[in-house]
Amino acid sequence: MKVAAFPLVLALSLSDCTAVRQQLGLALISEETELDLGRKLAAQVEKQEKPLADAKVQAYVRQVVAPLAQQSLGDRPGVEYKVTVIDDLKQVNAFAIPGGYVYVYSGLLKAAQNEAELAGVLAHEIGHVVGRHSANHVAAQYGLELLTHLTLGEEAGQLAEMAAGLAGAGALARFSRDDEREADEYGFRYLAACGYDPKALLTFFTKLDQLEKSRPSDLEKLFASHPPTPERIERIEKMIAKAGAAGGKLEKERFLKETASLRR
Ligand SMILES: [Zn+2]
Repeated sequence: MKVAAFPLVLALSLSDCTAVRQQLGLALISEETELDLGRKLAAQVEKQEKPLADAKVQAYVRQVVAPLAQQSLGDRPGVEYKVTVIDDLKQVNAFAIPGGYVYVYSGLLKAAQNEAELAGVLAHEIGHVVGRHSANHVAAQYGLELLTHLTLGEEAGQLAEMAAGLAGAGALARFSRDDEREADEYGFRYLAACGYDPKALLTFFTKLDQLEKSRPSDLEKLFASHPPTPERIERIEKMIAKAGAAGGKLEKERFLKETASLRR
């Protein structure tokens, strides 16, 4: 039956393909297991990394995420997004773990130039959650049996190892080109729907390029888990062209004010 269904998959549009990928993912790891695993991994990540103590910055980033997350619920309902800023100015990166936990390093907040750039990164991370990329990743890597033990509270060492792999530019945080494409497509849609200028996705990549050239020794590998390859840049340029010259908000002033404590 599965073999017979395959040509049909090829005939479907891209978004249907995505739905099929989500379904395949569900076969690998159930929604319930993902949410349970996410909670445990989040606790572990927040032990291994240092959440930023500045409650105002945390609240601001939550405020930026909320409308983007709202947009995503049509594609994947039932996820409650929780975003946390991690205190590390040397990391210009962000990542998402199973279950809707999104992390952004203070270094990224410092490097971004406006709210639209931050929102673009967060929307991309939400796209990875919608596509269940890291959930499928850990399921494929560790096997479902181990994940079930983890959610039962056994195998604490494995949980710590997994959390380390998912954080920053860890091995589990590196996605396939297909996953990156999918996260970009979702992210682009949510960013535009929230009224931001989608060109911010490209200006952020340009900023990363400049940073890499000017202070290579000071910073960790920039945005290494979501590399801005020429292929990605070209695809995003096409999406922008297709969307027309609508523009949108950047919210530069508000962004600089809310994150000023990181620039001192
Ligand atoms: Zn990515």
